[in-house]
Amino acid sequence: MQVRITVSFPYEAPVSQSLFDRASAVTPGGVNSPVRAFRAVGGTPRFMVSGTGPYLTDADGREYVDLVCSWGPMILGHAHPEVIAAVQEAVARGTSFGTPGAGEVELAEEIVARIEPVEQVRLVSSGTEATMSAIRLARGFTGRPKVIKFAGCYHGHVDALLAAAGSGVATLGLPDTPGVTGAQAGDTIVLPYNDLEAVRAAFAAHPGEIACVITEAAPGNMGVVPPLPGFNQGLKDLCAGNGALYISDEVMTGFRVSKSGWYGIDGVRPDLMTFGKVMGGGFPAAAFGGRADVMAHLAPAGPVYQAGTLSGNPIATAAGVAQLRLLDDAAYEKVDAVSAEVRGLVTAALAKEGVAHRLQVAGNMFTVFFTDAEVTDYDAAKAQESFRFTAFFHSMLEQGVYLPPSAFESWFVSTAHDAAAVERIAAALPAAARAAAAATA
Ligand code: PLP
Repeated sequence: MQVRITVSFPYEAPVSQSLFDRASAVTPGGVNSPVRAFRAVGGTPRFMVSGTGPYLTDADGREYVDLVCSWGPMILGHAHPEVIAAVQEAVARGTSFGTPGAGEVELAEEIVARIEPVEQVRLVSSGTEATMSAIRLARGFTGRPKVIKFAGCYHGHVDALLAAAGSGVATLGLPDTPGVTGAQAGDTIVLPYNDLEAVRAAFAAHPGEIACVITEAAPGNMGVVPPLPGFNQGLKDLCAGNGALYISDEVMTGFRVSKSGWYGIDGVRPDLMTFGKVMGGGFPAAAFGGRADVMAHLAPAGPVYQAGTLSGNPIATAAGVAQLRLLDDAAYEKVDAVSAEVRGLVTAALAKEGVAHRLQVAGNMFTVFFTDAEVTDYDAAKAQESFRFTAFFHSMLEQGVYLPPSAFESWFVSTAHDAAAVERIAAALPAAARAAAAATA
């Protein structure tokens, strides 16, 4: 979404700008993942050169308190010494073998031990691969074609799941990005989030055709919009009653909002689950898993094909195992506490300036919506005054706090966000709140 910029930027980032210019010459839009380009907020994307604990340093030598944490993975902060040591130890033994290895067994065992519905798990390299493979498996297992997903839920850039970003076109099951054909998207049914009646109606309209419902366990990709009480259970029951699989996408929430992710919070037992982000310790590692009888359909045990040259990569699995083993109850208590503290500071600063806002929370993930209405679906998320976020974002950036460069994202904190980091956030908030109050559409 393009937002008109109503603030001026008195600060500059010449080295980042020159890197961005060079990048734009050789890479579409200058970035390797669209949100990094700052299109929603304007200005120069910061090219980061290093990270330590809660801080990032950009190519101009400016330090930021990081509230993005690589979009979730860096739950222990940047360059955690024990994760770095595990990586260095693994690197010294070689970087990829294309054979089975002990590291992938350890990571799989960690996942299975933490998340009770995961009886078997397959490692892949990205969350996109995880959801793509889970959908294929669900279709292969049930012998059915159709998939239900929800507007505003993001499951990676899987063709069939990009009929999805919540526009009116998407709700008709048409692709909403060029390059996805009608055939690829035609079996995707996009429904409003938190609307069980719509799911019930879709099952009634397509008897025996729906392979699975895929949902973010607690969505963070339209901003944080937690499931209403009973919604996930209702999905599970409708799936069970109609012979479809319930797929909970925990790429974002998994190992972040509790030791066993959102499952540890709502206890609704999925048939399949997908993971990524935290489980890779900052490396490309992801996974899907669940019921053993379903996973048994996956090659080479069964007929549904799935593979990957770098799946279970020894460096990624070493990082993931090290990170997961450090994530004990105390670590989650710390992340939850920091999250609550930052939320309290943000809401106090905005309230002081009379800025309408709503903090929505899923475990330790949260989003500040610039509206006073409750946000329960994508349409409500889009109705916020996102121009206020733009002003707020740039004020925070100028003062050395790095927020997600979009009003429709979760903020992330880590165990490394200590009192000094929180103090820097607190110091930046009054001016940012004033900027948000003064912003005009
Ligand atoms: N699923 C969810 C819930 C996500 O948040 C994401 C990425 O943000 C993905 C899937 C895709 O993961 P990846 O970017 O690793 O492909």
